Amino acid sequence: MTRIAIIGGGISGLAAAFALEEHRRAGADIDYVLYEASTRLGGVLRTEHIDGCLVEAGPDSFITEKPWATDLCRALGLGDQLIGSNDVDRKTYILTNGRLVVMPDGLMFMVPTKILPTGLSPLFSWKTKLRMTQELFHPPRAADHDESVASFVQRHYGSEMVDRLADPLLSGVYGGEAASLSVRAVLPRFAEMERTHGSLGRAMLAARRKISAGPRQPAPPLFTSLKAGMQHLAETVVSRLPQALLLTNAPVQAVQREAGGWVVSAGLQSDEFDSVIVALPAPAAAQVLRIASPDLSAELAAIQYSSSITVGLGYDRDVRQSLPPGFGFLVPRSEGKRLLAATFVHNKFPHRAPEDRALLRCFFAGANAENVWPLADDQIVGIVRNELQQILGLRAEPLFARVYKWKSAMAQYGVGHLDRLDRMERLRQQLPGLALAGNAYRGIGVPDCIRSGRDAAAQFSKS
Ligand SMILES: Cc1cc2nc3c(=O)[nH]c(=O)nc-3n(C[C@H](O)[C@H](O)[C@H](O)COP(=O)(O)OP(=O)(O)OC[C@H]3O[C@@H](n4cnc5c(N)ncnc54)[C@H](O)[C@@H]3O)c2cc1C
Repeated sequence: MTRIAIIGGGISGLAAAFALEEHRRAGADIDYVLYEASTRLGGVLRTEHIDGCLVEAGPDSFITEKPWATDLCRALGLGDQLIGSNDVDRKTYILTNGRLVVMPDGLMFMVPTKILPTGLSPLFSWKTKLRMTQELFHPPRAADHDESVASFVQRHYGSEMVDRLADPLLSGVYGGEAASLSVRAVLPRFAEMERTHGSLGRAMLAARRKISAGPRQPAPPLFTSLKAGMQHLAETVVSRLPQALLLTNAPVQAVQREAGGWVVSAGLQSDEFDSVIVALPAPAAAQVLRIASPDLSAELAAIQYSSSITVGLGYDRDVRQSLPPGFGFLVPRSEGKRLLAATFVHNKFPHRAPEDRALLRCFFAGANAENVWPLADDQIVGIVRNELQQILGLRAEPLFARVYKWKSAMAQYGVGHLDRLDRMERLRQQLPGLALAGNAYRGIGVPDCIRSGRDAAAQFSKS
């Protein structure tokens, strides 16, 4: 029998455990144990029900285009629980010189695909609009090195595009800054478009033409979630696993190679395994692997993480009626606010708030999250309310407010990230029986984390 340890009970570790459990039930001669440091499983997937509202403390949904989360939900029998974002109301605003300006129609991330809405939009100056036109003539370019997203976007569209769109959009996903994120790791499709087409605008238009030449299909919703919230996904995975194999309150101090196998030390206990799946954020993975491989540990420790804070605010019917339509707004750094973004949850996922409630989800990330981190919850709520008043004119007292802090939870794929992953893979191959999963490697979102856990399990689950 092959014994496998999974370290970390977030969605990456749970996805690995579920894949192993499926193989075990199909007859594979395997056994596994999952170690989780805290008292609850699910990691950052956490949902609360407050005053009739469904409040997501961590992720609120996942991108539909990446299939692995939907696949897992279906495998768990949750197919009928999947819900899509209310895309008829999809509209995102960018705070521009203190005013909310709607992102023009046809903008694919930062690439304009419809001339008129972008040309008429007050979001960009004439200088940037001119750059957009010139961008259509960029020749193909085979870059021989990685660069930051900021420098890539700057080359194509200029610095205003970095400030108004690329930086806030990416900060919302990675909590980091466009100036330090790797274009190859974070926007691989764009890097490829530049290589093949030169102009991102032309590449995007060519892709659109291809799609519209094919059979017409209704576009799927951009985001998918679960009716009962994201925590329901983690809970359902847990309910399908033998409970005796799930060790909570069991922080692992070290995993070490011994006599061709692995020894996992958690508290005063240590246990032997044939293989180990380390499904931890990189700083924690670096810590547990420091003896087994100082070199791999050093590479892991060099992957930066940023902290984030979400604040859920519930309001009454009057506020709901006074808020603009759409999914919410993003705040560019240059606007001098501490908030990075706010989602109007009652519009994005309408059933998450009763009709007489408005539900807002506000977000701090990176340096701003670190700055407000030491403050008490009511002080953080005070900052949010003050900025919502400045941005939306919202003065009303919230019916409830909840603050959720996530320390070093979001991986930053810095310039050179993919080279680091190559070096790490070579080091890992010197450690038979070790697999890594989680958000530090090839995708930070829930679907990529699930894929990473599933792929890690597949390495060790041959029957
Ligand atoms: C605020 C926020 C909003 C997000 N929004 C979205 C979104 O809308 N859509 C999306 O797709 N993604 C989103 N993400 C990203 C995504 O949710 C995460 O990348 C993903 O859930 C990480 O899962 P994980 O299992 O790899 O890590 P985690 O959830 O961090 O789990 C790691 C687990 O390991 C445990 N652990 C740590 N050290 C040890 C140890 N020594 N021994 C044992 N256990 C240990 C921790 O307690 C934790 O439970 C968001 C992330 C955050 C923080």
